[in-house]
Amino acid sequence: MNKIEEYKAEKDGLDILQDIPRYAEEGWEAITDGDKERLKWVGLFLRRQTPGYMMMRIRIPNGMTNSKQLRVIGEIGEEYGKGFVDITTRQQIQLRWYTINQVPEIWRRLEEVGLLSLQTGMDNIRNAVGCPVAGLTANEVLDASPAVHEFTEAFVGDRAYTNLPRKFNVTITGCLDNCTHGPTQDISLTPAVKEINGVPVAGFNVAAGGKQGSGGFRPASPLDVFVTSAQASQVCSLITFIFRDHGSREARNKSRLAFLIDDWGVEKFREELERRAGYPLLTAGQDQPLAGPTDHVGIFPQKQDGLNFAGLVVPAGRITSAQLLEVARLADAYGNGEVRLTPGQNLIIANLPDGKLEAFQEEPLLEELSCDPSRIMAGVVSCTGIDYCHFALIETKELAVKTANTLERALGNTGPITMHWSGCPNACGNHTVADIGLLGRRARVDGKIIDAVDITLGQKFAGAIDSAGTLENVPCDELPSVLERIVTANQALAH
Ligand code: SF4
Repeated sequence: MNKIEEYKAEKDGLDILQDIPRYAEEGWEAITDGDKERLKWVGLFLRRQTPGYMMMRIRIPNGMTNSKQLRVIGEIGEEYGKGFVDITTRQQIQLRWYTINQVPEIWRRLEEVGLLSLQTGMDNIRNAVGCPVAGLTANEVLDASPAVHEFTEAFVGDRAYTNLPRKFNVTITGCLDNCTHGPTQDISLTPAVKEINGVPVAGFNVAAGGKQGSGGFRPASPLDVFVTSAQASQVCSLITFIFRDHGSREARNKSRLAFLIDDWGVEKFREELERRAGYPLLTAGQDQPLAGPTDHVGIFPQKQDGLNFAGLVVPAGRITSAQLLEVARLADAYGNGEVRLTPGQNLIIANLPDGKLEAFQEEPLLEELSCDPSRIMAGVVSCTGIDYCHFALIETKELAVKTANTLERALGNTGPITMHWSGCPNACGNHTVADIGLLGRRARVDGKIIDAVDITLGQKFAGAIDSAGTLENVPCDELPSVLERIVTANQALAH
């Protein structure tokens, strides 16, 4: 049994809740090793980089938030932190630089506006990701966000879901834009249509076992199962329970659902799912063609007549408290307060009437968080990197923005390019699914250890370099010129 399994066997991760008031009194030095791990069950992370200070990850299902919540997060970031927060690739927000004694008050303020940090770390179901323009875009087969919310309500706070062998990622999307990276998720529900009793029904095809870390990218396996929106949450729960009951609990790097599916095969896994469901599962429906991923940055008409959504770029996902408060103000002043966070670490202000668009675009905030940035900056995603993550091999966020700035200056307007950075193979920056994936590493050049990256190129750049799609050990100093050559090698993207 590995160490984390021992901790889980001693007491459930959520039981740490009863210890928080005591630790808030005694201070972080009193926290035992086991409880440092258990704190992650309630979304609290002591970071080696910032001894005594913590990171809190706030769950935001489907990235759907609003001005009230953002105002509170902005105020907390200002009062307790250092005036910024991070938007994550799972459509959540991370707060930093607060102390354990501040947790009860921060939680109280978050709960008042319907926010929780529960189960956002370790062996839990992480934030369920969905299309950030669900219900707004005409480009969807169905609005999947109710299923995301139903599933989230089922598992948050329920101990039946809090002792999984490893972390568990879920996406449920009904949109054709394909921005939620389904193949990388433990469960991926993507839009499909199935004829039931002669009537075409919109729902989802189910795939499972995707991953990026633990030995690298493995795409989710289609299970040949179609579910309706009403069944989606239950089927996600059943898959979770199969993983809970049968997933390996030995080596942590061999414990993701992918390994169980590889071990059993898809057929046996599907049989077990059907046995637990207690009814015959429908075979897969017709997959609805998924376009290339989109960044949702810009102003787009909604399916509701006369309304629009505005996608604002947040460079590398880092946003100041002042900017967040201003987003909240604009969402109230021009829309109905609704804001969405995207898996590309950007944000969307929804429900902007046609008549208010001109004034909206004159707002000073849009000079900082542009809705008309270069396609290079619109596609930048970055993990936390070495400033706050002890796994990181290099700094990422600043370098991501600096590199994008240099490329913008060199290349001007390009076609859409996604450029994703991960500071280590854990792949929190989703580098495996980008047009240009950058994976941090340390390399030896002329006897010196330097910051470097492996560059992995997606389909769009096939043929742009004479290798199998990966350039290894590229020194960070040389990166802008290497990337410039790669992009210009593909003229369609360069201009
Ligand atoms: Fe940390 Fe690695 Fe995740 Fe980046 S990818 S946040 S370095 S664990």
